[in-house]
Amino acid sequence: MKDRKLLMIPGPIEFTPEVLQAMGLPTTSHLAPNFADVFGQAIERLREVVMAPRSQPFIVAGSGTLAMDMTAANLMEPGDKAIVVNIGYFSERFIAILERYGAQVTRIDPPVVGDTPRLEAVEAALKQGDFKLMTITQVDTSTGVLADVRSLAYLGQQYGTLVVVDGVCSVAGEELRAEEWGVDLVLSASQKALGVPPGLAVVIAGERAMEAFRRRKTPVQNYYADWTNWLPVMEGYEARKPIYFGTPPVNLIWALNVSLGQILEEGMEARFARHRQMSAAFKAGMTAMGLQLVPVSLEKAAHTLSTVYYPDGVDARLLGLINQAGIIVAGGRHPALGDRYFRVGHMGAVTRSDILATVGAVEWALARSGHRFEVGAGVAAAERVLAE
Ligand code: PMP
Repeated sequence: MKDRKLLMIPGPIEFTPEVLQAMGLPTTSHLAPNFADVFGQAIERLREVVMAPRSQPFIVAGSGTLAMDMTAANLMEPGDKAIVVNIGYFSERFIAILERYGAQVTRIDPPVVGDTPRLEAVEAALKQGDFKLMTITQVDTSTGVLADVRSLAYLGQQYGTLVVVDGVCSVAGEELRAEEWGVDLVLSASQKALGVPPGLAVVIAGERAMEAFRRRKTPVQNYYADWTNWLPVMEGYEARKPIYFGTPPVNLIWALNVSLGQILEEGMEARFARHRQMSAAFKAGMTAMGLQLVPVSLEKAAHTLSTVYYPDGVDARLLGLINQAGIIVAGGRHPALGDRYFRVGHMGAVTRSDILATVGAVEWALARSGHRFEVGAGVAAAERVLAE
């Protein structure tokens, strides 16, 4: 019997064979011309994926938290004011990071966990002061909530604040049109919808963000993250003339370029649509079995993952049963929700059979946990959405 389990957590995800093969290629010199081509092309492709043709991408070794750290380090100076649109644990992490660089942070909380802050509350705060920057977590992986980046970015631009989007759990999965929507900086990481093993932090800074960086009065308080060091490197590789600052993770960047090629070959519109359909099918499966989602409505629910409450009488032991059925899913991550829910990632290379297998595994586990429902209803509901 095969003993490999299907990894359905919200990152790292399952990667395509081509991406994994790129990870296993003989490592070249980071200054070799063939690697310069790969790095340069990855930079160009990132602009296309987030639809920011005039932006400056940065690709560095690190995780998503480094991308957040790099953003705050380069854009914040002591005393600057920032607004955080809070939709979960990772929005709150941004508060801590911004404060570390001396920012005065105003947080806008949602009415309840699982909801988004009201646009009026964000606007009321923006009216009160000259905020240099506003952060929006497009998808918070702790709550499974999706923020309305388009409306929030529009507001941010009206009040002259830089709009920063944490797209760690959304880039290359959720609809995001950075320049058209007025987003000044998008940050992400490799291990989710970008489809590459963990280890790359990605920051795509628009013209206004780069301008704010150039106008700084004080040095960046983080040596490794300082764009002063990285900008010549990125410009150099894009010109196919490698420049050294810190050794780039050659194989990860090779794999990123392969994945970006696959993403663009699928096409961004088709990719957004596929994520919407996979998500709708999975969520239909869950609700058909009588389960409730953490987001307050489907409009506020992410398409890259689902967050689902355990039904009455069922607890986190369900995860062990789902695992026995061959699928790895994740437990809770938001302190206020504790262990009352589980999380399932469905992004990147995810297929319809992955969705059906996962709904089926949850169904099997629920039936063994004593939850009363019509066995088969979950998979049937998911099938119906996938047949549309
Ligand atoms: N932001 C969001 C929305 C995330 O989901 C995560 C990771 N789950 C992070 C930031 C931090 O990324 P990393 O774990 O790669 O540091």
